[in-house]
Amino acid sequence: MRRDLRRLADSTFDLVVVGAGIYGAIAAWDATARGLSVALLDRGDFGSGTSFNSLKTLHGGLRSLRALDLRQMRLFIRERRAMARVAPHLVRVLPCVVPTYRDPGRSAPLMRLALLVNDLVARDRNAGLDGAHTHIPASAVVSRDACLELNPLVDPAGVTGGAIWHDYQMTSPDRVTLAFVRSASTAGAVTANYVAATRLLITGQRVEGVTVRDACTDSTFDVHAGAVLNAAGPWAASLLDNLPSVRATLPAPALSRAMNLVVRRLPGSRACGGLARGRFLFAVPWQSASILGTSHDPHDGAPDLRVTRAHVEGLLAEAREAFPRAGLAYGDVRLVHRGLLPMVSSANGHVQLLRESVVVDHRSQGVDGLVSMVGVRYTTARDTAEKATDAVFRTLGYARPPACRTEVTPLDTSDLDAIAALQSLQGLEEPIGAESTTTGAEIVHAARAEAAVHLADAVIRRTGIGAAGRPSDQTLARAAELMGAELGWSDEQRRREIAEVDAFYELPA
Ligand SMILES: Cc1cc2nc3c(=O)[nH]c(=O)nc-3n(C[C@H](O)[C@H](O)[C@H](O)COP(=O)(O)OP(=O)(O)OC[C@H]3O[C@@H](n4cnc5c(N)ncnc54)[C@H](O)[C@@H]3O)c2cc1C
Repeated sequence: MRRDLRRLADSTFDLVVVGAGIYGAIAAWDATARGLSVALLDRGDFGSGTSFNSLKTLHGGLRSLRALDLRQMRLFIRERRAMARVAPHLVRVLPCVVPTYRDPGRSAPLMRLALLVNDLVARDRNAGLDGAHTHIPASAVVSRDACLELNPLVDPAGVTGGAIWHDYQMTSPDRVTLAFVRSASTAGAVTANYVAATRLLITGQRVEGVTVRDACTDSTFDVHAGAVLNAAGPWAASLLDNLPSVRATLPAPALSRAMNLVVRRLPGSRACGGLARGRFLFAVPWQSASILGTSHDPHDGAPDLRVTRAHVEGLLAEAREAFPRAGLAYGDVRLVHRGLLPMVSSANGHVQLLRESVVVDHRSQGVDGLVSMVGVRYTTARDTAEKATDAVFRTLGYARPPACRTEVTPLDTSDLDAIAALQSLQGLEEPIGAESTTTGAEIVHAARAEAAVHLADAVIRRTGIGAAGRPSDQTLARAAELMGAELGWSDEQRRREIAEVDAFYELPA
């Protein structure tokens, strides 16, 4: 997978997808697999926007049950299973445990009923899954003692028992997103990170591509296509700047700031729920860390992912309320996940997100060749991408789009063999630092075959070394040395790349 700017500039594609978060990545794979010629662009690294920041949970829609929305619950169950089917090597079963209380709305009998319905609605949750490690067991309600043993972080006062259910945790969501990008690339798509779409190319009432700016070469050129799919996440509205009447029709113009804190590893091997501000916050074990989240607050102004010390302190205060026995301090925070999600309304500090992702075929505003999608959950991205790809086919003039196969087609796993082959080369088979199992081969492969342009791409997203906190100086230096040898970096550039990685982990002062 190489950044092929010449092909990008010289071809006329059926489709250019703007934004390679999980939504754009899946749509690019879907459209390519259905026979379109596709270009996929991101102004940053693949998956480095909202998608990097998720809590890494593939949900089964238990929340939809609270709203008695069984149709939506089925959607979550189907999509959770689809991810386990197409990327079984990147998911694991995640047990979740929350306490029950005397309060009738949080009582053990109510949870028992909810979990019974959950298991019934999800009775085909494992259908078609080969790997036993992806089989989701039945839910259960357990005693108070068992709950406090499994969830050692909550205040025991008032706890009457515990409810246990299971979702999936993505062991590396970054490699899940990348697996869709790689699958699209292997099937023929041109994929380029660090290429920003700066404006839509419009002739009459038809969108015919985008003008782009490549950050690596500082060059500007046009990418021509029969259709553009706007998958720019919270920046989707900005892409429509030169079509103000179309821009105004995107759903949920307001945004919510969603955050997680990645902290030192807390006790417990399950996702533990604790109550704060009247709702459950989770402490989820992941790699060598725990992730606390997710908080949602209204966001004002431009889509900007910066967070302040007050935002971090606010979430930390919630986490202390939810998990008083965790002894959390500011110094425990290794990394702050942040992202902007489409919000419908907010009142008394409670944010209501857009209930479902939306696809807009802009022919409804008289503009041909343009489709936008606005996503709310990583879990359901495949379904939305399928609908968006259907809309792309229609705007290209197909009366009946070809069938979508992304629900069942396994993602490309040739990376596993390629890394194994590299590992047979001397010096690349060893872990590059004491704190991780990532080998030199993985870093070299990221630079050589996975379009890692910067050190941050390789250590934060292609490999797991930096996803849960800053790697040691020694590990970073070794990774920079290996990448630098591949990409011809000077000593000065190696230092700049390490400084960029450092900036990524900086907490707000
Ligand atoms: C803190 C947090 C926790 C979450 N936890 C979960 C969870 O556990 N489970 C779950 O299912 N969901 C979760 N979500 C929601 C989920 O992460 C998002 O719904 C999903 O990642 C959105 O993906 P996206 O592709 O729409 O957006 P993004 O990932 O933001 O992708 C959009 C991409 O477009 C690019 N872009 C923007 N403008 C341009 C341009 N002009 N040219 C080129 N590229 C451009 C950006 O660089 C970006 O990479 C969470 C979200 C947050 C923030």
